[in-house]
Amino acid sequence: MSGASGRAYLAIPGPTVVPERVLAAMHRPSPDIYDGALVAMMPGLIRDLRRLAVSDTADVAIYIANGHGAWEAAIANMFSRGDRALALATGLFGSGWAAHAQAMGVKVDVLDFGLRAPVDLARVEEALAADRDHAVRAVLVTHVDTATSIRNDIAGLRAVLDRLGHPALLAVDAVASLGCEALRFDDWGVDVMIAASQKGLMLPPGLGFVWFSRRARRLSLGSDLATPYWDWHARTGDVEFYRHFAGTAPTHHLFGLREALTMLLDEEGLGRAWARHAALARAVWAAFDAWSAGGDIAMNVADPACRSHAVTAARLGGGAAQRLRDWVPAHAGVTLGVGIGMVRPGEAAAGDHLRIAHMGHVNAHMTLGALAAMEAGLAALGVRRGGGALEAAAAAIGAA
Ligand SMILES: *Cc1c(COP(=O)(O)O)cnc(C)c1O
Repeated sequence: MSGASGRAYLAIPGPTVVPERVLAAMHRPSPDIYDGALVAMMPGLIRDLRRLAVSDTADVAIYIANGHGAWEAAIANMFSRGDRALALATGLFGSGWAAHAQAMGVKVDVLDFGLRAPVDLARVEEALAADRDHAVRAVLVTHVDTATSIRNDIAGLRAVLDRLGHPALLAVDAVASLGCEALRFDDWGVDVMIAASQKGLMLPPGLGFVWFSRRARRLSLGSDLATPYWDWHARTGDVEFYRHFAGTAPTHHLFGLREALTMLLDEEGLGRAWARHAALARAVWAAFDAWSAGGDIAMNVADPACRSHAVTAARLGGGAAQRLRDWVPAHAGVTLGVGIGMVRPGEAAAGDHLRIAHMGHVNAHMTLGALAAMEAGLAALGVRRGGGALEAAAAAIGAA
């Protein structure tokens, strides 16, 4: 029997579920890009993107790009060729941003914290304290590494920089966390932050965002890596609509963005969205805690305080992760995320890792449904596991 017909649920950490309202907002003929509704919308979009970052003063540049494009946008504006960066890696995305910077001509030192633990602030402090002439121009860090589901302490990094009086820019990849978990650009002293449209923002992929502080704007004035398309000075502030995009605007995405920001900021409220994601995460963790008690199943991050509220990476040994990922779409209409970057070269554990997203336009019945589909699959596949996972997940939702 297949229970897959009916509405499918894509529970992968991006692209995420796009609300019908966002799809409907995008379903329209091409708008004028020189006058009219789209042009009139722009100041409100910038204001609300600032609200999303919890900032009063940040500028935000919008690129027709995915997260990888936003990485390069941030790098191009922060650095000149030959500048130094300190990159903090806690998974594939942290390493990836570092690799892009390196390829663009930045001298990057990578501090790698492995795949199970967050950035160790003491090690960062040691590395920056050794940089006596302040050659490091920026610290690159991933707030939530979507590969490992590790969440890093951004406010803690700001405190390290301040304690040392180190002027490096604090640059944060918030692709996986923005709109899903607490993130405060101004309070945390972030200088540069990137995001993309297809995760917590509930849009199709295609928009990359870069927020930058006044200090980052000032320090970026002499940087020589930015070409006309990526230069954030040319596309922010008091410029005509066309200049915001260095060309034709991503017309339909902007109507979708308007709808998504209204839903998130004005209807649900950002604090409530963060609380919803926290509750869904606790339900997922409760299920995994129960499963792990009686089998070769474990969440990737042991300490709940360092786990993302938007995605959970887990190991199901003996290839069970892959078998379950094959079972749930075929029998229950749910697609789970593949594990990425979890198998070190030389290790033979392919098929042991998966990720479940609880990110964006997701509510309790969707997450509980995905967990129940997983329980059904584990049972059908005869995977050894502890019992009570669904009761525990439901109790977590009931207690929220
Ligand atoms: C998804 C993701 C990216 C990459 O975004 P793309 O849009 O796939 O290029 C980068 N960083 C993090 C933390 C992500 O989750």
